[in-house]
Amino acid sequence: MSTQINKDVSCPHCGAAVKTQMWPGIDAQENPELRAHILDETLFDWKCPACGYEAQFIYPCLYHDRTLEYMIYVVPNGNDCALQSVNVGESFPQFNNMNKRVVSSLAELKEKILIYEAGLNDLAVELVKLALSDVAEKKHGRTVDAGYFYSVDKEAGRIEFSFFLEGETEAVRQGTRIDVYNKSLEIVENVGALAAGEEFRLVDMAAAQEVLRIYREEE
Ligand SMILES: [Zn+2]
Repeated sequence: MSTQINKDVSCPHCGAAVKTQMWPGIDAQENPELRAHILDETLFDWKCPACGYEAQFIYPCLYHDRTLEYMIYVVPNGNDCALQSVNVGESFPQFNNMNKRVVSSLAELKEKILIYEAGLNDLAVELVKLALSDVAEKKHGRTVDAGYFYSVDKEAGRIEFSFFLEGETEAVRQGTRIDVYNKSLEIVENVGALAAGEEFRLVDMAAAQEVLRIYREEE
């Protein structure tokens, strides 16, 4: 079930109190239009009707997809305090066996949705991203600030990522063969890092680095 609240938010530009609709809980099946706003990255867009000031208004938001059995919790700036306030086991006992992830931005939420909807394992995807991030840095001679899963084409056997290089606003695309993903999935399975559980987990490139470290120690 989705949950919606209205809150007065004061405009940082003109100070007007603006009634703002917020969605602390989003059910993918119940509100497909909200899913679409995540995918076009407009969910948190905010505009002051008095002065026209536009900003992103980010708040903690729990997205869940019952069909694909996963929940993604958006906690702005990785705020642990907000995270502890949701006891999923108690609030949603029916979700105990779901995959649960925590992210800190709308772009990361979108990325997780794309990964899960493509039927991929997000930790294995992060391993591929980690490797391709190095490739992109060497190729362009710049540091990678952020990278996101972009698409998978199973027929063509390709997986693609977008990387944002330091000082650039346009992303560069970097892809590789799907075999690299399949090998990464084997690593994830070997390390035994796949289980769904009660905890919300941060599955990012740092988590991928940890998996690689464990895997290399075991070899
Ligand atoms: Zn205003």
